[in-house]
Amino acid sequence: MPSTPTSQPLVPTSRPASRGLPLAGRTDQLVGSVIDSSTSLLHQQTHDIVRFAMGSPAAEAVPTAILSKLAETALGPESADAYDYAATEGDPPLREALLAALAGTSDATTADRLFLTSGGMQGLDLAGKLFIDPGDLVVVESPTYTNGSATALSYQAELLEAPVDAEGLDVEALSALVQRAGRVPKVIYTIPTFQNPSGTTLSLARRQRLLELARQWGSVVVDDDPYGMLRFEGDALPTLHELADGDPLVFSVRTFSKIIAPGLRVGWVDADPSLQPLLINAKQAMDTCTNLPMQRLVTEFLAGGHLEGLLAANREEYRRRKHAMQDALTQHLGDIARWTNPEGGFFLWVTLTNGVDTQELFEVALAEGVAFIPGPAFSPSGRFHDALRLCFASTAPERIREGVVRLRRAIDRLATRPDRAPESDLG
Ligand code: PMP
Repeated sequence: MPSTPTSQPLVPTSRPASRGLPLAGRTDQLVGSVIDSSTSLLHQQTHDIVRFAMGSPAAEAVPTAILSKLAETALGPESADAYDYAATEGDPPLREALLAALAGTSDATTADRLFLTSGGMQGLDLAGKLFIDPGDLVVVESPTYTNGSATALSYQAELLEAPVDAEGLDVEALSALVQRAGRVPKVIYTIPTFQNPSGTTLSLARRQRLLELARQWGSVVVDDDPYGMLRFEGDALPTLHELADGDPLVFSVRTFSKIIAPGLRVGWVDADPSLQPLLINAKQAMDTCTNLPMQRLVTEFLAGGHLEGLLAANREEYRRRKHAMQDALTQHLGDIARWTNPEGGFFLWVTLTNGVDTQELFEVALAEGVAFIPGPAFSPSGRFHDALRLCFASTAPERIREGVVRLRRAIDRLATRPDRAPESDLG
């Protein structure tokens, strides 16, 4: 029997006791991230765990040999300037290399639209800062990447959760929800491709309809698409950025986190040129500039032509891993679950049909040696107690099979536990 995990339960971080401090009202809406907290929780564990929880590239997928070689020159003894402050909008060589790397892709853009950020999260934060006033209605997908919804909440948004199905955000259901709300959203936050957490992709028809609704409502579409370059099956779709064709309502957020490495903390925003001065002012009041040594490293990586080869190798490996996970799920969970079929990216969304609550399951699974993120972590209102997110990208196929066996063992343990609430009570 594996050792008991050291854990606090994975619950949203609540506001700490203020000890009489004059905290700002907005701290009521600083909800933190269950997803990010799981990183700290997993670091504390000492037993063997198959890690399906974090959305990180595989360790083997990070091009450490190339990066360390490039660092010798880009960050070597002759490169003191690489340790200086950088231009707020991004280091010119990286801006140039990125424009060249994106040319001909669905994310092709121009210098006046490009703005370098400290990862995708800063792009989302900048969108919140520029567009959300307290009380504004912000649409989020349900389920969604709750770091994104948490960013909107930190700007005191009111959230409207709109359903996602096999074709991504259900835009007609969204239209009905907006009608019922009696007011239009200021911002629509969407992850259109290989969505985090569901793995689903917004169809072309829905992409077009979403842009149409946004124009009708005057809503800004925050197009958060970090996984789009990791398509390993199916036909490519144009990004919302490309379909918008320069419409100022689309604000696109991108990152190198999933395609090179998350620790770099380098990403970019592609937005209407009229927003550049505001983006600069906002970022200057946040962190001055994006980490320059890491910008230089990414510049060398792009300019050296390494990105295409890396993407090709990783797409192939992630495809293998997705199939390994789906095969293992069919074999071991086929009678009690269904799951999505992503054509790229990192995640599968599993829905249990036997009444087990995935939040309760988390602790049992950790003790059995497998980690995932429970469904309620992806819904600001705590939906999806019957679902969980599995990241297939970071684990090798043989370990994936072992992880799914452990997951089944944990489900069976919980399902037969005498203190377990009857199925009908789970809602
Ligand atoms: N958006 C989505 C949908 C993501 O999955 C992530 C990373 N998990 C981010 C944004 C944030 O990216 P970064 O790590 O570059 O801040």
